[in-house]
Amino acid sequence: MKQSRLLMPTLREVPADAEAVSHQLLVRGGFIRQNAAGIYSYLPLGHKVLQNIQTIIREEMNRAGAQELLMPAIQPAELWEETGRWGIYGPELMRLTDRHDRRFALGATHEELITSIVRDELNSYKKLPVNLYQIQAKYRDERRPRFGLLRGREFLMKDAYSFHADQAGLDEEYDNMYNAYSRIFDRVGLEYRPVVADSGAIGGKDTHEFQALAAIGEDTIVYTDSSNYAANIEMAETLDRYEMQAGTVAELEKVDTKEHKTIEDVARFLDVDVKTTIKSVLFNVDGETVMAIVRGDHEANDVKVKNALGGLDIQMEEEAKIIDLFGCEPGTLGPIDSPVKVVADYAVKYLVDAVCGANEANTHFLHVNAERDLADLTFHDLRFVVEGDLAPDESGPVRFARGIEVGQVFKLGTRYSEAMGATFLNEEGRAEPLIMGCYGIGVSRTLSAVVEQHHDDRGIVWPKSIAPFDVHLIAINAKDEAQLALADRLYKELSASYDVLYDDRKERAGVKFADADLIGLPIRINVGKKAGEGVVEVKLRTTGEVIETTVDDLAAVLT
Ligand code: ATP
Ligand code: MG
Ligand code: MG
Ligand code: MG
Repeated sequence: MKQSRLLMPTLREVPADAEAVSHQLLVRGGFIRQNAAGIYSYLPLGHKVLQNIQTIIREEMNRAGAQELLMPAIQPAELWEETGRWGIYGPELMRLTDRHDRRFALGATHEELITSIVRDELNSYKKLPVNLYQIQAKYRDERRPRFGLLRGREFLMKDAYSFHADQAGLDEEYDNMYNAYSRIFDRVGLEYRPVVADSGAIGGKDTHEFQALAAIGEDTIVYTDSSNYAANIEMAETLDRYEMQAGTVAELEKVDTKEHKTIEDVARFLDVDVKTTIKSVLFNVDGETVMAIVRGDHEANDVKVKNALGGLDIQMEEEAKIIDLFGCEPGTLGPIDSPVKVVADYAVKYLVDAVCGANEANTHFLHVNAERDLADLTFHDLRFVVEGDLAPDESGPVRFARGIEVGQVFKLGTRYSEAMGATFLNEEGRAEPLIMGCYGIGVSRTLSAVVEQHHDDRGIVWPKSIAPFDVHLIAINAKDEAQLALADRLYKELSASYDVLYDDRKERAGVKFADADLIGLPIRINVGKKAGEGVVEVKLRTTGEVIETTVDDLAAVLT
C-alpha cells in the first residue's frame, strides 16, 4: 500500500477527551475515529489490525472444533422475555420498535437467540456436543462509555455457545475453550491472567475472565506468582453491592478517621453492631472519602487470612480478624504489586495509620501511598478484599494488579435451556434440557488492550502477529530520484513476501519518522542517502536497533 493513497489521518496533538493511552494513540495514529459517545469507525489501519485479531481468533476457534455462524443484531423482545432478561438487563439493553410497534433489542449478547435456534434444530444427543460462534458488533448502552475502544457502546465481540448432553461434556469443552483463549491471547501478544470471576447477572457457576494486565484496567485482580490461582476482586465485594446493601452512604461519609479510629469507634458513631452490620466503611482521609469493606464473620476470616497469606510475614497477625488484602487504584502509580501486609479488626486504625503515616510497621504500604497524590484518591481507591482461596499450600506474596477483561468463559448449565424449553432426547428417548457454556472475547477491546501494553512515548509498538503491515518502507527524500527508484524497486520485491506500507509521500523526513513511530510497524526500512550505493537501513520498532545493509543482503536481514 502506498502511503500517499492511504486514509491515515495522523495527529500530533493528544486528543483532549482521551484519557487512556491506547485511546490517544489509536486516534493520533489514524486507526479510529469517534462518531458518537462509545461508537467508533475503524479507519483502514484500525480495520487491518481488527482483521488480524479476528483471523487469529477464527484459526483457534476452528482448531478447537467450533463452527462459525452469524446471527442478527436485531433480536425480538419475546426471546428476552422468555428468560426474563428483557426486564433484568435494564437500560444497558438498547431497544427499538418497528413500524408495527413490535419490540426488539439490539444484541448485547446472544444466549437467547442461539438457544432459540438450537431448540428448533437440535433435538437428539446424537448431534451433541456442538459449539457455535460468531464475530459481530454488540450493543450495550454503557453508563460510562470511556477509554475509547475499551468500553464502547457498539463494539466487536466474538461470542461462542456450546451445547451438551451432560456436565462432563460441558466441563471438557470449558477446558477446551480456556485453552483456545490462552492460545489466542498469547498469539495477539497480551500479557494476561485467567482469573476466577463472579458469574453475576448472566447466571451459571464456573467462570474465568481473561484479564490483560494494564494500569488503566477497570478490574482489580489478586494473584500470587507461585500458584496458578488468581481472582477478580469482584469475587469479594463490589461498590454496587455495597451501595445496595448499605443505603447509608451519606451517613458513613460523616465518619472521620481522625476521631473514629477503630471499627468499634465507627460502630459506636453509627450506632450499629460491628459484627453483623458493617460491611463497608467509608471514611475521610485528609478530606477524601475512602472505603473499606469489612466482613462480619471474624473467625472464618481469621482462618482465611492466614491461609491466604501463607508464608507472608504478617504484621499484626494475632489481631487479624476481619479483613485480608487490599489494593489501590493505579492512576499515579501503575499496577500495584506490593506484598500485602495486613490488617484486621483494626481495619480502620490500620488504614489511618497507613494512609496518614503513623505506623512504621506499615512502611510498605506507606511507601506506595507516599508516591500518590492523596488528592487523587477516589471512592474506589482502597478496598479490602475478602474472598478467594489464594495459594493455600504455597508461599509467596499476594499481588494486586489492574486488569482489562478481554475475555470470559462461562459454564451456564441449564439456565437458558430450561427457561426457553430447549431440550434434547437422551439415549433413553427422554427429553432433557441442554447443558450450555458460553465464551466471549472483546475483539475491539483486545485491540486497545494490546496498545495499552505495547507502546512507548513515540507511539504504538505492534506485536508482529497483528500489526497492520509487516514492513514500513520509507523513501526518506521522495524527491531524490535515486532514493525513489530504489524504494519503488524494493516495494515491488518485498511485496511478494510481506505486507508493505510504502511511504512515498513528498514529506519531510521528520514527519515521516514521527508517523512511522506513531503507527508502530515492526520493521522499518529507510531508503536514504546511500541509495545510490544500494545500501539501506533496517530499523526495529521494538528495540530501536538499526542495521545497515546492502539491498542484496536485505532478505537475509529481514528473516
Ligand atoms: P465488563 O465487565 O467490562 O463490563 P462484561 O463482563 O460485561 O464486561 P461480557 O458480557 O463478559 O462483558 O462480554 C464478553 C467480552 O466482551 C468481555 O470479556 C469484554 O472483553 C467485551 N466487552 C464487554 N463490554 C464491552 C464494551 N462495552 N466495550 C468493549 N468490549 C466489551
Ligand atoms: Mg459489562
Ligand atoms: Mg465483567
Ligand atoms: Mg464478563
